[in-house]
Amino acid sequence: MRFVHGFATDRGLRRELNEDSVLAAETLFAVADGMGGHEAGEVASRVCVETLAAGYRAADGRLEPEDIHQLMGQADRAIREAACERAGTTLAGAAVVEHEGAPHWLVFNVGDSRTYRYSHARLAQVSVDHSEVQMLVDSGEISLEQAIVHPRRNVITRALGAGDDPRPEFWMMPVEIGDRLLICSDGLSGEVRDADIQSILERFPSAQDAVDELVQAALRNGGRDNVSVVVVDAVAGHPDDPLADTRPRRHPEADSTTTEPGVGLFGAGRPGRGPTERGARQSPHRGSDDRGTA
Ligand code: MN
Repeated sequence: MRFVHGFATDRGLRRELNEDSVLAAETLFAVADGMGGHEAGEVASRVCVETLAAGYRAADGRLEPEDIHQLMGQADRAIREAACERAGTTLAGAAVVEHEGAPHWLVFNVGDSRTYRYSHARLAQVSVDHSEVQMLVDSGEISLEQAIVHPRRNVITRALGAGDDPRPEFWMMPVEIGDRLLICSDGLSGEVRDADIQSILERFPSAQDAVDELVQAALRNGGRDNVSVVVVDAVAGHPDDPLADTRPRRHPEADSTTTEPGVGLFGAGRPGRGPTERGARQSPHRGSDDRGTA
C-alpha cells in the first residue's frame, strides 16, 4: 500500500490574507485554520503545522499515535508563545500509523476543520466539529441544514493556542485500498455541500485534480473564506512498507516554504500580500505527488 496526495490552499475571494496552513507529507496530512487579528492567525496556523512537520521529520516519518497527541500539545504551547495567546488555530488531519500490524488512519481534530473519508462510494465526515452549531445540532435544537447558514456557524469551542480548550479528539480506522481521505478548512465545507464534495471526489480520480476542482467549487460558490484542501488516496503497491515510494513531488507551481524532503509545508503568511481584486487572485499554493495508480 502506498499513499498518493494532492493539496492546495487558496486565499479565496474576500479575505485579505490566507490564515490557513497545510501540511502534506508521505503519511501525515493536516489543515490548520488560524484566527486572530493583525496576521496573528497566520502565525498560529503556520507554527502549528511547522511543529507537526518537525516532529514528523524527527521521527523519520514513523509517528506513533501518542506522538501525534504530544505534538498537538507542543503546537498549542508554541502558538501561545509565538502569538502571546492572542491567536489560535484549528487543526484537522490524519496520520498513517501502524496498529496491530496493519496501517490505520489516525484522524485528529481540534476545532471545525474537517476530515472526511470517501470509501465504498460513500462520503462520511470522520471528525466532529468543535463548534457552537455542532452543539446545537447534537442537542437537537437546529438541523444540519440550519447549521450551514447559522449566524454563529464560525464560532468554535476548541482551538490550539488560544481559548480555554485545546483538547484534541482522535479516531482510528484500518486503511483500505481505495480509501480517499479529504481534509479541509471550513472555507470548503462552508461553501460546498457534502453531496457536491462527494460528486467531485467521484469524478476526479487524480488526487490533485480532485483538490483543484474542490477549491474551484468553493470559489464559484462565493469563496468567502480561505480554502484549504488535502486529498489522500490509499493505493495498491509496496505491501511490505507503507512508507516506501511515497516521496512527494513538488508541483511546478508550488511555492513551498519548506524544502525538506518528503514534507510539503504550505504556510500561511507569505510576505508582501495585500488585497487584490476578484479575478486577480494570486495563484493558489498547490502540490502533488500524484503519479497515477500502481
Ligand atoms: Mn476558515
